[in-house]
Amino acid sequence: MPQLIIHGGAGKIRNEAEHRAGIEEALNCGWGALIKKGALEAVLSAVSCMEDNPVFNCGTGSSLNLDGEVEMDASVMLSDGSFGGVAALKHVQHPILVARKVMEETDHLLLAGEGALNFARKMDFPEHNPITEIRQKALEELKQSGNLPYLPKLSQALQNRTSPGEDKFGTVGAVARDDSGLIAVATSTGGIMGKLPGRVGDSCILGAGTYASRDGGVSCTGHGEAILRLLLAFRACERMHFKKAQEVLSELALWAKDQGCSCGLIGIDWRGNIAFAFNTESMSYGFTDGDSMVIF
Ligand code: ASP
Repeated sequence: MPQLIIHGGAGKIRNEAEHRAGIEEALNCGWGALIKKGALEAVLSAVSCMEDNPVFNCGTGSSLNLDGEVEMDASVMLSDGSFGGVAALKHVQHPILVARKVMEETDHLLLAGEGALNFARKMDFPEHNPITEIRQKALEELKQSGNLPYLPKLSQALQNRTSPGEDKFGTVGAVARDDSGLIAVATSTGGIMGKLPGRVGDSCILGAGTYASRDGGVSCTGHGEAILRLLLAFRACERMHFKKAQEVLSELALWAKDQGCSCGLIGIDWRGNIAFAFNTESMSYGFTDGDSMVIF
């Protein structure tokens, strides 16, 4: 029986009903693809569906950087070791599909900035403006408050005080395992609101926000710099060799909190166990194995 789990970000979720509806829609898209085409198409389908939904911080509706631009990070990985990622990518609708092209069409793992955009154009991805008015307003409010979450140095400069918060996350991710046993993971984000232009987070970094191996697959959300330091997705997959996914993710979410890392994780182990854990106020997520669909 195949499995699929997706998340719409960890942190403080203000618009729960919209998140739930978005998760349900993406789960349905992903499940249809999983049955017909396998794990890779499932995670791409679920994540690109969320990239089109402005309620999530990815694709259209991504958080803005300090200059008011969208720079997106995304990556995809398979349990056979295949990986593709894009960093600080502008002006495309579906960064996760560009990441897939990096995986399938190049000798590289990760393309960034202008090079990533040039590659996307070569691969026929059209010009797209992912900036929404809601995010523009949110950035203005944030700048006025001088309280940029997880950017204490910048906040200090703006306001001479520090006060990180966790209400600006919303990255999306998906993990699927198909009948052949292949596990696929995809993660996509606009990053942290008010970030410095050029900042790259965990979501496109192999082993940090995204990882898959024969032991399992994991997608993370939360404070990117902290997740990068802990290489959280890699750590989780390694442990899935011996332990069930839920035990691993629950332990790691607690441990990460002790390390000062606000985060959420979803995963599936090689045995087909679905798991999720978070140490933030909440996380939006949903999963299905065909028999039942659970949405939070
Ligand atoms: N992890 C993402 C980043 O730091 C943010 C998020 O999960 O919402 O870029």
